[in-house]
Amino acid sequence: MEGEYWNAEMELLSREEIEALQLRRLRDTLERCERSPFYREWFAAAGFDPSRLRSMSDLRRLPCMDKTTLRGDDPRRFLTVPLDEVVRVHSSSGTTGQATVIFHTAADIEAWAQLVARCMYMTGVRRRDVFQNMMGYGLFTGGLGFHYAAERIGAMVIPAGSGNSKRQIQLMRDFHTTVVHIIPSYALYLLEVFAELGLDPRADTDLRIAFIGAEPHSEGLRKRVEEGYGVRAYNSYGLSEMCGPGVAFECPAQQGMHVWEDSFYLEVLDPETLEPVEAGEEGELVFTSLNREAMPLLRYRTRDLAFVYPGECACGRAHRRISRIKGRSDDMFIVKGVNIFPMQVEKVLLGVLGVGSNYQIVLDTVRSMDEMRVLVEVAGELWRGEVKELNELKRRITDELRQEILVTPRVELVEPGSLPAGEGKAVRVLDRREHAKGVGDG
Ligand code: ADP
Ligand code: ZN
Repeated sequence: MEGEYWNAEMELLSREEIEALQLRRLRDTLERCERSPFYREWFAAAGFDPSRLRSMSDLRRLPCMDKTTLRGDDPRRFLTVPLDEVVRVHSSSGTTGQATVIFHTAADIEAWAQLVARCMYMTGVRRRDVFQNMMGYGLFTGGLGFHYAAERIGAMVIPAGSGNSKRQIQLMRDFHTTVVHIIPSYALYLLEVFAELGLDPRADTDLRIAFIGAEPHSEGLRKRVEEGYGVRAYNSYGLSEMCGPGVAFECPAQQGMHVWEDSFYLEVLDPETLEPVEAGEEGELVFTSLNREAMPLLRYRTRDLAFVYPGECACGRAHRRISRIKGRSDDMFIVKGVNIFPMQVEKVLLGVLGVGSNYQIVLDTVRSMDEMRVLVEVAGELWRGEVKELNELKRRITDELRQEILVTPRVELVEPGSLPAGEGKAVRVLDRREHAKGVGDG
């Protein structure tokens, strides 16, 4: 029997019920934290007495933690269970420095699988589906997180892992893959490989759903994936410090990602003052895990910038929705005094007809001045076409970028497939300036 919800009890909680459950679970979490040497010191240093917690906002008497807090101590000191109850260790990808280590008990792994299953089921994945998981397996959470969830649903899993594009396409065709999990920048790249092979994913595969996440991407990129593959593409957000994927996920309404608030308490804070911002206002996402056993994290600063959608979702779930991630505060770079996020550049590029599937931002110091170049791969037909059209394209991109980011970058059109395309998270900015990055890391 297939219902409409994977976990109707949790998915259909009202706001009041969510808030009551959060308070109960937070109390349990804090109680557990008192068994951890790290948290005992953390609470003492802040003069924080967990037994006096009356409301969720009392949590604000604790300072926030971040990757430095995790890197600064032996990860075993965070444990609230004996080490022999730990069954798995994962780590972050290390996108912004040394990877952080997270421990899991068997119950943590099961709760995580259930959360991701909830996400997949919500978008329509069922037992009859064939799920090709094109994320890296291993310490990175993107692979195993979805793997277990798809098995819980009863779909057939192809644990393809990342890379090896021709084999990926072969697998899709041999096993009639219907659902994929793929890094968004790689999804665009793979479209080119389909074209090289003379294949059209719309006609030559059975794909119907793509989960794209793990890195910031624009609405334009989603549209290209949806059109190129003939699928619905859903944004998937998570971080290894909370569990991995499964923290927030788009529902069929595709209007923001529901944060599973039965498992995570979300604060959106002004990154400077650490004061909460209103719904609709952008801030930094800060999470507290509410049912983690081995290694709960309290008020963990993600550096990810987004806003909460005001109002209710058409799907009826009351779990709050976050917007697409604009980027990490560390992704921001400053050129000639102007703050720029790579996503602003992507938003412009992918809105322009004739732009291919990859781009890179290169920053240099030229005669003591910042120079910003944007290398843009051109669509195949256009690259082989007339010079006049290429010049026209370059002019349009330059104009639109100037309007969006307020500085005029040097746009260089390059051959399709010539920019480095990784299998993991895309590196969008190459900053080779003498004074390193113009941004403090906070
Ligand atoms: P690392 O922090 O080293 O990259 P993780 O693998 O834990 O390691 O990655 C989590 C981070 O990836 C998030 O904090 C966020 O910056 C980014 N991320 C994950 N999913 C998305 C998404 N759907 N959109 C934008 N960024 C995402
Ligand atoms: Zn919804």
